[in-house]
Amino acid sequence: MVNAQKYIDENETIRRVSRQEETVWINPDYLPVEVTDGLCQLVVSDEDIADAEARLTRFASFIRRCFPETEATGGLIESPLEDIPRMQQALEQAYGCTIPGRLMLKMDSHLAIAGSVKARGGIYEVLKHAEDLAIAAGKLTMEDDYAKLAEPEMKQFFGRYTVQVGSTGNLGMSIGIMSAALGFRVKVHMSADAKQWKKDLLRSHGVEVLEYTGDYSKAVAEGRRLSDADPMSYFVDDEKSVNLFLGYAVAAKRLKQQLDEQSITVDAAHPLVVYLPTGVGGAPGGIAYGLKRLFKNNVHCFLVEPTLCPSVLLGMATKQYEKANVRDFGLSGRTHADGLACAAPSGFVTRILGNLVSGDFTVEDARLYDDLRLLDSSEGKRIEPSSCAAFAGPRGLLTLEDSRRYCAEQGLTEEVLANSVQIAWATGGRLVPAEVWEQYLATVLD
Ligand SMILES: *Cc1c(COP(=O)(O)O)cnc(C)c1O
Repeated sequence: MVNAQKYIDENETIRRVSRQEETVWINPDYLPVEVTDGLCQLVVSDEDIADAEARLTRFASFIRRCFPETEATGGLIESPLEDIPRMQQALEQAYGCTIPGRLMLKMDSHLAIAGSVKARGGIYEVLKHAEDLAIAAGKLTMEDDYAKLAEPEMKQFFGRYTVQVGSTGNLGMSIGIMSAALGFRVKVHMSADAKQWKKDLLRSHGVEVLEYTGDYSKAVAEGRRLSDADPMSYFVDDEKSVNLFLGYAVAAKRLKQQLDEQSITVDAAHPLVVYLPTGVGGAPGGIAYGLKRLFKNNVHCFLVEPTLCPSVLLGMATKQYEKANVRDFGLSGRTHADGLACAAPSGFVTRILGNLVSGDFTVEDARLYDDLRLLDSSEGKRIEPSSCAAFAGPRGLLTLEDSRRYCAEQGLTEEVLANSVQIAWATGGRLVPAEVWEQYLATVLD
């Protein structure tokens, strides 16, 4: 257990975090990409990311065949990038803040198949595992048309294997749905925070859902233990997986293509500022990493976490990484943002982001619902509460003293920010049932 009191006494930001105040932590170790380049390439190289991208391309024909909803994108799982000018104005009015530049929404909330950002990493890791097994068994070569993986003989082959994962909900849905489509047996270990509708949906796909009364780390630990005891079982380890990370990192090149299509330039005079809702760190970490590789110092990546569960912030700010647990800092970890309810962060991600991420905003649960309603009324778009954490970034950037100072230090002057694109990364929502939307829209917390 870390000595939380010491950090609370010594660090002003951690003190505010322990008081559950909305705040921002600016990363004191943030460095220009040139400095970190060599080290980064050793851990996750640009070739690794390109390899992941190529793998997703190989699987496109299989995905298209199994999931007709991906027909329009030719079997690629990708989401729209849209301007949200009315939301930008609504946020400015509601919070009395200034949001410079062009505010856009990256709608991973609406990704095919899994309806959340987990459709990137989770699905990628299952596909990678399936490919490894099939190639090792001599049933597939990389030159084949992967649509053949949808045939009964292959399903039977994969049916001898089990895939397991611990999840607060959305990761389980992406792993569960894709594993079931390939024919794997699937067990999803769900934490107490997981929503009932997510468990119901998984069971309807034939996935075995095991429920735990404890938090996310417990569900992961138990899933890992049971899977390790079974030689035919593979565990998707959200706290450590490099494959998940690679699946997420592919998002960067896809985003670049979308920016190009919309004739949006990214350079020092036209920077990108990106805000990523964060749970254990894998999804935002992989995306931020990919973005930094591609856009270098012209992208500024901020994480956003609930004031009740800022585990990645604490792991990075204390440099205690996976050892930092929000409960040691007097925080419950029990947030309405179920997708972000991870009491301790990924050790891998908090380390690899050490010099790359600009900072981490925290957001009160009440604001998630306020912003959910604002987006619905201003733009007619619906994203789940966890996703709405992203808006704490644009409304906080020029409001909070520490992020204002970051802007000044990084040359993000008024003029530069006026030419910037700020991207709120929406991470989930498409699969939320109608009656749950009614509940979300009606939830008012103080
Ligand atoms: C999982 C998830 C996140 C964050 O991903 P992590 O890898 O846990 O950091 C954000 N939003 C939603 C909706 C999620 O499901």
